[in-house]
Amino acid sequence: MSPYLYIVPVFFVLIAIEYSLARWRGRGDLYRFQDTVTSLNAGLVSQFINIMGGAFSVFMYSILVAQLGLFTWDASNVWVWVFALVLYDFCYYWVHRAGHEVNLFWASHVIHHSSEDFNLATALRQSATGFYFKWAFYFPLALLGIPTKIFIVVALIDLLYQYWVHTQLVGRMGIFERFMVTPSNHRVHHGQNDYCIDKNYGGIFSIWDQLFGTYADERPDEKVIYGVRKPLRSWDPVWANIQHYLVIARFVGSACSWREKFAHVFGPPRGSLHLQSVGEPPFRAAEFVPFATPYSPTMKIVGAISTVIGTMMLMTLYVLEPTLSLLENLAYSAVMLIFFSFIGRLWLHPKMMETTR
Ligand SMILES: [Zn+2]
Ligand SMILES: [Zn+2]
Repeated sequence: MSPYLYIVPVFFVLIAIEYSLARWRGRGDLYRFQDTVTSLNAGLVSQFINIMGGAFSVFMYSILVAQLGLFTWDASNVWVWVFALVLYDFCYYWVHRAGHEVNLFWASHVIHHSSEDFNLATALRQSATGFYFKWAFYFPLALLGIPTKIFIVVALIDLLYQYWVHTQLVGRMGIFERFMVTPSNHRVHHGQNDYCIDKNYGGIFSIWDQLFGTYADERPDEKVIYGVRKPLRSWDPVWANIQHYLVIARFVGSACSWREKFAHVFGPPRGSLHLQSVGEPPFRAAEFVPFATPYSPTMKIVGAISTVIGTMMLMTLYVLEPTLSLLENLAYSAVMLIFFSFIGRLWLHPKMMETTR
């Protein structure tokens, strides 16, 4: 049974704690309702897909280990696990860096950066489309013969560590930041200020960023503005997952040569992106206005209920999944994706935007 059956409720409890703490400290603005619901629903969308996507990644990894694994490892030795975790995090640095610096992979990762808030709900705004390529970046572990079960566990540890760093309630952490990813240096990663772009890719350890020249400290004199330069401007978590693939397809379709088409897919992101395009005015943090649309009290209830229903349906799928065929699993998830997309688009329906009765 999926460990997420137990992990998801813990995530929700921690979000409730962070929200309460934020309000208590007079920072209730850290959570905006629409953005939070979109983040949570995007997290649910990602899980509905990754129940199958994760199985695909594990399947591909296990084939690599079986075919190419050079050594056998003693899984009862704790140092084998530590070594696997460090090597996994090194590979994660590169998969994450590729997610920012290769347009096709950015199409998958951009959803995580599409929130203009930064809180524990943002952490759940994960991609639903990364499963088809990410496994290939862990080739070094497979080549060394790191067993699949160790790979699965260290991958989960790496992911879970990254949850707590999505908060504005923890300040600077001194020397710890030189070695570990912390809320401060991950805030920089989510920033769209000039100094934040393409910085701090680490998962658990920030040493990779120090080594490869992508580290930046949070600046006390410049407020971090979260999000991407070309904002999503939508509350639809399914659209957030696919929109940049469509941008790439449009660019490829209008490209004049194969060389240009290739550059649009595998070159650095352009067109809709976090990068400043030539001719655009410079980024001014003080002028930034986050995306927000008016919504009725009814829509507030509908939004909250959508997350509750989605979570219950996901929990049910975690339990049922071992007994379902691939087709049944696909159908179940497809229905949920349509549901979340519908709710996301409902925020922009004129009737649902009436704030007075
Ligand atoms: Zn990122
Ligand atoms: Zn993040």
